[in-house]
Amino acid sequence: MYVDELVELLGQLGQPKYRAGQIFRHLHSGITAFDEMTDLPKSLRQTLDDQCYIADVKIVRRLQSQIDGTVKYLYELYDGEWIESVLMKYEHGYTVCISTQVGCRMGCSFCASGLNGLLRDLTASEMLAQIMAAERDNNIRVSNVVMMGMGEPLDNFDQSIRFLKLVSDDNGMNIGLRHISLSTSGVVTGIRKLAEYNLPITLSISLHAPNDALRQSIMPVARRWSVAELLAACKEYQQVTTRRISFEYALIEGVNDSKECAAQLAKLMHGILSHVNLIPANPVKENTFRKPDKQHILQFRAELEKLGVNATVRRTLGADIDASCGQLRRKEKEVM
Ligand code: SAH
Ligand code: SF4
Repeated sequence: MYVDELVELLGQLGQPKYRAGQIFRHLHSGITAFDEMTDLPKSLRQTLDDQCYIADVKIVRRLQSQIDGTVKYLYELYDGEWIESVLMKYEHGYTVCISTQVGCRMGCSFCASGLNGLLRDLTASEMLAQIMAAERDNNIRVSNVVMMGMGEPLDNFDQSIRFLKLVSDDNGMNIGLRHISLSTSGVVTGIRKLAEYNLPITLSISLHAPNDALRQSIMPVARRWSVAELLAACKEYQQVTTRRISFEYALIEGVNDSKECAAQLAKLMHGILSHVNLIPANPVKENTFRKPDKQHILQFRAELEKLGVNATVRRTLGADIDASCGQLRRKEKEVM
């Protein structure tokens, strides 16, 4: 809740409104019960407990990579639904990858999150709770957030914006918007709407294919908006925000990893301040996609660089724990 909403709530409860700031700070400090707000009178704590609840996530499963320490969480929500988050350690600090929906309705063929469609949207508080739970569990502060877990953030637009405002509030978790990335499969209307907010976040576009036919064959969203329309929206977004845009490109063997694809991709990147992240596709049990071998991935990158495109191959973290979102949840559902 924003402070002004807390003010209103306190008013409705017949409680002093000046407590709103105090409660706001508590809610963003990672506590999970009103009784822990020890600087509030006991009666107020009781009233809050009777009338409200604090959104929280419960750790169902915790998998830690033996290779790099990455921790993958399976969290349970208040209604019994499950979502995933990943905690990664980089030189500059801890990054959490959060989910924005339970499932996803975009149906990309290489992704495990969308296999059962969308079950429900997450609230902003449930997005915050994923970060706080990881902080508590490891006794750390998280400095970066990526909205790259399960779900399509721009298909849950209002709660995603609310999350961005709350997480960056200096009385809250105070994680700067510059330290946050939002990844979208290319919901053009959402990108345009997001531009209106002019936030200094990093926008990541999951492009994955450099032409309409190929993109449509792996991403249903591409049937709604062409690559040209998507790129036009990105350019408009960049004009407003002046921020570099990240393009994600999951390399799938024999599908989008040809020299011709690299050339088409390079052409698309003309006239846009961009960075291309090449992600070796993570194999998902339900499909037959494989990643190209290391040599081929490096060749693809070299081809892009030759054509003047900034590209890095994303380091695979947590390879031993199915760190790609959507996979753990499916696996656990099968077992249980
Ligand atoms: N829905 C948003 C954000 C969540 S997906 C989006 O699609 O951008 C986060 C990233 O993981 C996206 O770039 C997505 O395309 C990628 N991804 C999903 N499944 C993958 C897989 N099996 N291998 C590699 N990347 C995958
Ligand atoms: Fe949804 Fe993103 Fe997975 Fe596509 S890649 S199904 S948009 S979570």
